[in-house]
Amino acid sequence: MLLKNYVLGEWKDGVGNSQQLFNAVNGDLVAEISSGGLNFKEILEYGRKVGGKNLREMTFHERGRMLKKLAQYLMERKNDFYPLSFKTGATKIDSWIDIEGGISTLFTYASKGRRDLPDEKIWPEGNQEVISKNGTFTAQHVCVPLEGIACHINAYNFPIWGMLEKLAPTFIAGMPAIVKPAPISSYLAHKMVEVIIESEILPEGALQYFAGDPGDLFNHFTSQDVVTFTGSAGTGKKLKSHPTILENNVRFNMEADSINCSILAPDVTPEMDEFGLFVKEVANEMTTKAGQKCTAIRRVFVPISLKDEVISAIKIRLEKTVIGDPLNEKTRMGSLADKYYLNLVNEKLDKLKEESEVVFEGSTEVDKKSSFFNPVLLYCASPSSAKTPHEIEAFGPVSTVMPYHDIPEVIELAKKGEGSLVASLFTADNDIAKEVVLGIGAYHGRIMIINKDSAKESTGHGSPLPHLTHGGPGRAGGGEEMGGIRGIMKYMQRVALQGHPTTLSNVCNQYLIGAEQIADKIHPFRKYFDELVIGETLVTHRRTVTEADIVNFAGISGDYFYAHTDDVAAKNSIFDKRVAHGYFVLSAAAGLFVHPAEGPVLANYGLEGLRFTQPVYIGDTIHARLTCKRKTEKEPREDEKLQGVVEWYVEVVNQDDEVVALYTILTLVERKL
Ligand code: NAP
Repeated sequence: MLLKNYVLGEWKDGVGNSQQLFNAVNGDLVAEISSGGLNFKEILEYGRKVGGKNLREMTFHERGRMLKKLAQYLMERKNDFYPLSFKTGATKIDSWIDIEGGISTLFTYASKGRRDLPDEKIWPEGNQEVISKNGTFTAQHVCVPLEGIACHINAYNFPIWGMLEKLAPTFIAGMPAIVKPAPISSYLAHKMVEVIIESEILPEGALQYFAGDPGDLFNHFTSQDVVTFTGSAGTGKKLKSHPTILENNVRFNMEADSINCSILAPDVTPEMDEFGLFVKEVANEMTTKAGQKCTAIRRVFVPISLKDEVISAIKIRLEKTVIGDPLNEKTRMGSLADKYYLNLVNEKLDKLKEESEVVFEGSTEVDKKSSFFNPVLLYCASPSSAKTPHEIEAFGPVSTVMPYHDIPEVIELAKKGEGSLVASLFTADNDIAKEVVLGIGAYHGRIMIINKDSAKESTGHGSPLPHLTHGGPGRAGGGEEMGGIRGIMKYMQRVALQGHPTTLSNVCNQYLIGAEQIADKIHPFRKYFDELVIGETLVTHRRTVTEADIVNFAGISGDYFYAHTDDVAAKNSIFDKRVAHGYFVLSAAAGLFVHPAEGPVLANYGLEGLRFTQPVYIGDTIHARLTCKRKTEKEPREDEKLQGVVEWYVEVVNQDDEVVALYTILTLVERKL
C-alpha cells in the first residue's frame, strides 16, 4: 500500500512516518505515502544536471513530438485511471475533465510547440528591433530554457489535469520538473507518473515525483529554479515568502482561491434563451466536481427584479441532481475529496450564513463514513455592504445569489472579489458586454460572455483551456498558467540580444535584416530544402512599370480603385498621380523571382507581414531581393514527399533602391534525404 516516490531515476520508498489516504466515498484505506529519508538537495541537483541537460539538447519540435507521443501513450491507457479517480469522489464527467482534459493539454502543447516555435533550441521572440541608423548594430529578443528545475506544487482537486497542465509548458520550454501533489488524491497522480515513467518517452531526469512532507525542499532552490504553486492563498503566501525564495529571487507562480462570479445582465428576461443558459451554468458549476473547482461560480449576480425567478430555477435544477457513488451511472454529483475538506466547507458555510440566508439545501442521505456534501444555495440581500460572500471561498457545492440594480452596481460588486480567475456574463446585448468587460477586466483573468449563439459551442465558465491564460490577479494569486506559448515563458529566460545582424542571424539560425546575403549561381528555386542556406539571396532582374501594366491588372483583378485608374482623383489623393496596385507589385515581384521550371519547390502557401512602404508610379523600375530567412522540416507523412517549409524574406525596391514592398513568403520545398 505504501506508494513509492520517483526520484534520482528510480522508485524509492519513503521511510519513517507515513500518511494514510482514504476512499472519499466509503472511507476505505486506499494507500499510504511517505517522503521520509529523501535527500531533496540531491534530487533537485539531479533534475538540473541530468534532466535539464537532456531536455536542452532537444529542439522545441523534438520536445513537441515527445509530448505528442506521451499524450498518445496516456490516451491509450486512459481507462486505467478512472477506477482510482472514482475513489477521490469524482464522477465520470469530473474524472473525464481531470484525466482526458489533462492529456488533451499535452496534445495542445505538443502542436503549439511545433507550430508556434522554431525547430531550434533558441526561440527568436517577436520582431527584430531597429536600434542603429545604418543597421550594423541590431537587436532581437531570444528565449532560452532556464537551467534549474521546475517544482510543481499542486492542489488536491484535479490530481491529473493539475499536474499535466504544468508539465506540458515546462517540457516544451526545456526544463525538468519535480511534482508534489496534494496528499489526499495523490494515489491518482502517482498512477499517472507510473504510466509516464513506464512509457520511457521522457529523457532521464526530466520528471521526478514525491508525495508527502516536503522537508527542507525549499531551502535548496536557486535563481534558475521555478516554483509553480496551486492551492490555498494561505499556503501560497507562506511559501512565496520563504527566505530562500526571497533571497535567491526564485520565480514563484501562484494560483490560489478565487471568488468567481457569474452575471445575468439586465437585458435578459425569463423568456430568453440566455436566462435558461445562465441558470444551467450556475447549477452545473455548483455540482461539477462537487464544487471543488478553483473556477466554480461562487457569486451569482442577478437583476433584483429577477431574483425570485432565478432562485426557483436553480433550485429546480439542484433538486434533480443525483448525488451519490460515482460508480453508479445515474450519479451527477460525487463527494468531496476528504472528511477534512468536508469540515472545512461546513466551517466556511457557517461564516457565509452570517450575512446570507439558505434558500436551498439538498437532502440526500449519505453514508457517515463518506465525504458527501449536499449543495447549498444562499441568498445575500445586501451584497454592497456584506463582506463574507466576496471573501470566503467554501470549496464545495455552495454559491450565493445576490441582487443588483444597474450595471455600475454589478461592476462594483464583481470587483469586491478582489481579483478572480473567471467571470461570466450572460447577455444578448453586445454594448452591455463591452461596458462590463471595461468595468471588471482589470480584476479578472478570464471573462466568458454567453449569448444564445455562442452557448452551443461554449466550453463553460469553469473550463481553463490550454490555449488561454489561466490565472487571475489579486486574491486569485496573481499568477498565470498555460495561455498557449505564453505559458512557457515562466520556464525560460528572455534575452535581449544586441550585435551585428550577421552575428545574431547565426545565433538564431534565422536571417535578420542587414545580415550578410549570400549569392549563388544556382537559382534558389532549383535547390532542395537541404541545399538552401540561411541568408542565401537572389537579386532579380528589373522591370519598368507601365500604364499598360496598371490597366491590364485593373482588368484582370476588377480593381478599378480611383488611385490606379482616375487621373483627376489620383491628383487630389495622397499620391498626386496614378499608382500601380500594391497587388500588382507583389505579382510582378513573383514574376521576377520565381523559376518557372518543374523543381523541388512544391507550392507557395502563404505570405506574412506584408507592407507597402512606397508608391510605385508609371515609369518606376522595380526589382526584388529574395532571401532565405528560416527553414523548418515538416514531419514526414506516409502519402507525401519529404518536405520542409522555407520562409523567404522579400524586399521589392525601386530604381533609387527605396523599398516599395516587404514581406515574407512561405514555400513548401522537397527534401533530398
Ligand atoms: P493547500 O492546502 O494550500 O495545498 C496546496 C499544495 O501545497 C498541496 O500540495 C500541499 O501539500 C502543499 N503544501 C502545503 N504546505 C506546504 C509546504 N510547507 N511546502 C510545500 N508544499 C506545501 O490547498 P489544497 O487544499 O490542496 O487545495 C484547495 C485550494 O486550492 C482551494 O483554496 C482552491 O481555491 C485552490 N485552488 C486553486 C486553483 C487555481 O488554479 N487558482 C486550482 C485548484 C485549487 P501538503 O498537503 O502536503 O501540505
